[in-house]
Amino acid sequence: MNDLTNDFDIVIVGAGIGGICAALAASRLHSKVLLIEKMSEIGGTGVHAAIALVCKFRDHDGRCVNTGIHKELFPQAYQNTGLTFDEETVSSYDEQELKETYHRLIQKEKNLTVWTDCEVDAVQVEDGNIRSVTITGSKQTRVFGRVFLDGTADGNLSALAGAEFQKGREKDGKMQMATVTFKLTGFDPSLFKVKDVTSWGCFFWLEETLKPYYMAMKQRTNSTNMRQGVLAFPYPDGKAFLFNSTAVNDVDPTIPGSVESAFEIGKVQVYELVEAIREHPAFRDAKIETIFTKLGVREGRRVVGDYMLTGEDCLQVRKFEDMVAACAYDVDVHDPDGEKNHQEYMTILPSPGYYHIPYRSLIAKGFGNLLLSSRCISGTFEAHASYRVMSGISAIGEAAGTAAAVTVKSGFSDVRMVSADEIRYILQTRGQFVEGPVKETHVLVK
Ligand SMILES: Cc1cc2nc3c(=O)[nH]c(=O)nc-3n(C[C@H](O)[C@H](O)[C@H](O)COP(=O)(O)OP(=O)(O)OC[C@H]3O[C@@H](n4cnc5c(N)ncnc54)[C@H](O)[C@@H]3O)c2cc1C
Repeated sequence: MNDLTNDFDIVIVGAGIGGICAALAASRLHSKVLLIEKMSEIGGTGVHAAIALVCKFRDHDGRCVNTGIHKELFPQAYQNTGLTFDEETVSSYDEQELKETYHRLIQKEKNLTVWTDCEVDAVQVEDGNIRSVTITGSKQTRVFGRVFLDGTADGNLSALAGAEFQKGREKDGKMQMATVTFKLTGFDPSLFKVKDVTSWGCFFWLEETLKPYYMAMKQRTNSTNMRQGVLAFPYPDGKAFLFNSTAVNDVDPTIPGSVESAFEIGKVQVYELVEAIREHPAFRDAKIETIFTKLGVREGRRVVGDYMLTGEDCLQVRKFEDMVAACAYDVDVHDPDGEKNHQEYMTILPSPGYYHIPYRSLIAKGFGNLLLSSRCISGTFEAHASYRVMSGISAIGEAAGTAAAVTVKSGFSDVRMVSADEIRYILQTRGQFVEGPVKETHVLVK
């Protein structure tokens, strides 16, 4: 007999955007949900390795293809309706506000329990189903569930369960470079040529203006930073910039010590970069307000699922009968061999500018009750370089949480028994963008 306090309908491991969206979606469908996070605070990469930019979620006609929980998280970004760059405001967010929004939405959910400082370090599997997970940290216990979701980004839960996975690009297993991000204040916008700090025009002006200072520093030093330019995104209030502009190669988050040593290298790059740009008069008194404490890791394991989404699927803007999410972001490979200018490493999606993510890519192959709700879904290196952004991952998380709740409420023994049109019905009822037929379900939608 299980201890009822440790017995949940749905157990989600990892509280980044994917895990949190999954938890909200499942809890709103009246499932008893546990969200487990190893850090002392929820939020994952988007909060603790903040990145500021809300990546593209509109098709080429300006239609939003992620309108579910993503819209609740980033309401301001949905007010920017234009599609032309220069005068338009950069859609950005403040990580503290995002964290508060997560807490506000979670607090409304009486069916949702969140445990932080808890790391899942063992998984008990019986007959192709996860039965329970063992936790260390602030709670030392074993937790039982009917459906388990991998929100760990790196596929940690799936790997512990023995699921098949892939890492890196096909030819040599190398992964995209990692980044230490930081927040900079104290600059003088009156010395900027483009005065509206929050506009794309200013972003491009800064990119062009700061590059020579950065490149000169690279020439004089032995900098390990492989970037060929400077990327700085404005905070929504225009009072700070988020620099996504360091690059550490050969990071593998699944190898102990790799992230820690990369973080130290990245921090050196932060100081070099800031020293270099302080040579520009507008940045003479600039201050590093925060170096984010989590290394920004772009990829880890990609769990093999019932279908592996490919780069070709993205670039052919493929539609799937079992679509449960969509992604409008381009294929953005931060080349492990050394970076090019950011315009060169993006492959823009052709018209209409978005593709479908099939339900099968969220189901771990060989398991009846393991769903993927973070960037570890089943896809190739190239496809992952597109859907890994927060708009894509929030939609994936929301779909996975919905599928898990339908599985539990229907008493299904396998997540494959849920049909994509039932999932779409619920997502659509909640305001999420879906395409394809929908089938009404008996599951109570609030
Ligand atoms: C440098 C960088 C720049 C980026 N730029 C952008 C951008 O501009 N715009 C954009 O939209 N996206 C951007 N992205 C991508 C995006 O931020 C991430 O891919 C996305 O946030 C990942 O969300 P996630 O939920 O999959 O994982 P994460 O947010 O990484 O969350 C995973 C969570 O799982 C937890 N965890 C792991 N293992 C365990 C365990 N065993 N037990 C318990 N908890 C565990 C981790 O602590 C973490 O909190 C960027 C990413 C990086 C790294």
